[in-house]
Amino acid sequence: MDETGLILTSDIVIQCESYKEIIFIDKDDVVEFDKHSGERPMGAEITYTFFGDKQCDKCENEIEYKIIASEYPVGAVEHIYTECKGWSQDIEKNGVEDRIIAK
Ligand SMILES: [Zn+2]
Repeated sequence: MDETGLILTSDIVIQCESYKEIIFIDKDDVVEFDKHSGERPMGAEITYTFFGDKQCDKCENEIEYKIIASEYPVGAVEHIYTECKGWSQDIEKNGVEDRIIAK
């Protein structure tokens, strides 16, 4: 049985900052590497970090992406933050907020 928690439901679309190439990152290539929890008044808050990197096919720019999402209270997505290096467009504009759900 799968663990509960936040999951990424579809591929990520980002844009390389050099020539604005559109780059697709398969959701199965995005690794959850960090999960930590803290206690708040309504119980546990769990923070998930999804991250990875990819080289642009066209300009060989190295792109790093990180999506940090918090689950609080358990079963609800509270905040989503993104951090980026090598790409110019905030992936939140591409709907990343809709791509992370609690299951
Ligand atoms: Zn590029």
